Amino acid sequence: MRYISTRGDARPRSFSDCLLAGLAEDGGLYMPESWPHFPATEWRALRGLPYPELAARVIAPFAAGSLDLPTLERLCHEAYAGFDHAAIAPLVEIENGLFALELFHGPTLAFKDMAMQLLGRLFDHVLTERDETVTIVGATSGDTGSAAIEAFRGSARVSVVILHPQGRTSEVQRRQMTTVRDANIHNIALDGTFDDCQDMVKAMFADLPFRDEVRLSAVNSINWARIAAQIPYYVRAALAFGAPENPVSFAVPTGNFGNVLAAWAASRMGLPVRRLCIGSNRNDILTRFLSSNDMSIRGVEPSLSPSMDIQVSSNFERLLFELLGRDSAACAATMTAFRKTGHMAIPPAAWEKACETFAGLRLDDDETLAEMQRLFRESRYLADPHSAIGLAAGRAGRETGVPMAAAATAHPAKFPDAVREATGMSPALPPRLSDLFTREERYVTLPNDLHAVQSDIRAFLAAR
Ligand SMILES: *Cc1c(COP(=O)(O)O)cnc(C)c1O
Repeated sequence: MRYISTRGDARPRSFSDCLLAGLAEDGGLYMPESWPHFPATEWRALRGLPYPELAARVIAPFAAGSLDLPTLERLCHEAYAGFDHAAIAPLVEIENGLFALELFHGPTLAFKDMAMQLLGRLFDHVLTERDETVTIVGATSGDTGSAAIEAFRGSARVSVVILHPQGRTSEVQRRQMTTVRDANIHNIALDGTFDDCQDMVKAMFADLPFRDEVRLSAVNSINWARIAAQIPYYVRAALAFGAPENPVSFAVPTGNFGNVLAAWAASRMGLPVRRLCIGSNRNDILTRFLSSNDMSIRGVEPSLSPSMDIQVSSNFERLLFELLGRDSAACAATMTAFRKTGHMAIPPAAWEKACETFAGLRLDDDETLAEMQRLFRESRYLADPHSAIGLAAGRAGRETGVPMAAAATAHPAKFPDAVREATGMSPALPPRLSDLFTREERYVTLPNDLHAVQSDIRAFLAAR
């Protein structure tokens, strides 16, 4: 399988090359040159397989030419061995026909683990084959940083540097990052905001000599391998509901559009997906797009669901590419204009096509708390704010006779304050994290200054 850029001006690459590159050199996102299509017999053959084996077979056509099936099976087994639930991504019935697809049973209690745990193994495998090393640098407001640290800890070929805004992440989130003691992990608390952290990472990537010197790499949500690793749980859920014979709908609390894009990719592979319902908080650029074909950038406002506090959804460009009939010139022009004007409207026929599958629902913080309360009162289900938004979107988009599975993307113990406010309950951390608050933390605090950060990273790498 080869990968092409949504903007059409980068040379096609293999799965492994896209894994290490992340973004295409023309600023576009990598997409598979064609969609693998599974006939009904192949879907049926996946029924009942243990999760890691199912995942390997779903991912295999995307990795063809880079990794063979036995290698993928081994890496998937390793990736999902550290999950707390035997089913890896269990389905829990909430009310008649509405299910929670729980994606938070990995080491950092959020759905990012589903892809990141595999990404860690994929990086190690490919880098060992090539006898190379890289330094992954990332900015985080919470979930992505801890998922990356857990996925890459102990790696001999990957060093990880994560910048978080000092004093602006939750204590659970900070401690999940700063209490990891492996020598290849380095945490920087930056004196600034999350945007400052992101700008700092961008500045390091723009400094080409530095970029080459430390061999910078990234694992942000536009990395194709992350999307590929998120497809299997939708397949698993659909099979449980009787696919390929019977359809299923999904609801997904959405930020950068990566998770819901994976569900859409499953439908491109031939899985009968009826509807995809997007839940957003008050940062509702996507739900506004779906209701009026107007995507316009506004400032980010903090909410109870911080992992969805986004200004633009970076992975939307992949859907746009498809809606425009894979016309990369049109896609590039649309994205350039969007960056310049802050507005995007797409051709009406393309927008109508999106609306055939996608629907959106927006919840502000009060509505989110009310939904969390309702889920607990009526179903005894403790949902974190992100999962509650997904479940509300699922309830709104449900049709009779079609099961609806809503992605539950974070464990309620990750957001204890909101859960307590809504339900009066204090969700307990799972046993593996029960001593989180007594573990020793390790991080450096740095000013918002590029040279200070770069020399600190050089010193960290030299000491490894
Ligand atoms: C990252 C994240 C999301 C948003 O997922 P996208 O792929 O960015 O749309 C939702 N909920 C939680 C808990 C997350 O960590």
